Amino acid sequence: MTTCSASAPDKNASGDNFYGASICNQTYIDYFWNTYGFAGNKEYWDDGFGWDDSCNTDLPLARTFNACYALTYSAENWQNDDYAGAMLNWARRYVREHIKNLRAKCGNGGAIAASFGGGLVELYLGCWFGKDVPGRVETLVHESRHEGGKPHNANFPAGSVFGSGGGADTTWAYEGAWMYGALYLWWYFAQGARTTSALRERARQRGNLVIDNAFATHPGFSI
Ligand SMILES: [Zn+2]
Repeated sequence: MTTCSASAPDKNASGDNFYGASICNQTYIDYFWNTYGFAGNKEYWDDGFGWDDSCNTDLPLARTFNACYALTYSAENWQNDDYAGAMLNWARRYVREHIKNLRAKCGNGGAIAASFGGGLVELYLGCWFGKDVPGRVETLVHESRHEGGKPHNANFPAGSVFGSGGGADTTWAYEGAWMYGALYLWWYFAQGARTTSALRERARQRGNLVIDNAFATHPGFSI
C-alpha cells in the first residue's frame, strides 16, 4: 500500500480463503461495486488498496468483497430481503439503503470504521486485518445503523474491552449500531448458509463480546 500497510493474518481462520474462492467473479464484483457504495470512489480503493488486484485477499478491496458476499448470500433464501423477515435476509438491504459512499483509508492503526452521515462510511486497516469476514459484515451493519440515524448514546461499561467513555449504547432495546451488529452475528451463527461451522462459531463469539462490552446495561443474555 502506498500510505499504510498490514499483513493478513491466518486467512483460513478469518474466512478469507473460504469466501475468496467465490468472490473472484466479475458478476459478483460488479454487483458489490455498484450496490454497496464503492461506485464513484475508485480513487479511495486504488493505490494499494486493491482496485487493480480485486481477487487478492491480502488486500482491503477483496477482503471487503468477502464481507459483501457474506452479507448478500448468508441467508438460505437470500433473494427475500423483506424487512418483515429475518435480519439475516434484510441486512444486505439495510446496508444497501444506507451506505452510499464506501471509502478505504488507513485510519490510525486500530481504527475499524467511521460513519459521517449522508451515507458516507470509511473503513480502516482494523476492519480488514483485525476482523474476520463475519466481523467485517458486523462493521458494515453497524455503520449502516449510524447512517440510519442511531448514534451511540452511552459510555462503555466498566472494564469494557472497547475502552472507556462514549461509544456504547444504553440498552439492547435502543436498537443501536451495536445491537444491529450483534443481532446480525447471532443470525449468522444460528442460520448462516454458504459458510462454515467454524466461521459461525467465530460469529457467535464476536456477538457475545459485543453483548458483554458495548451496552451500558448488559442485555442479560448471550448467544
Ligand atoms: Zn459505532
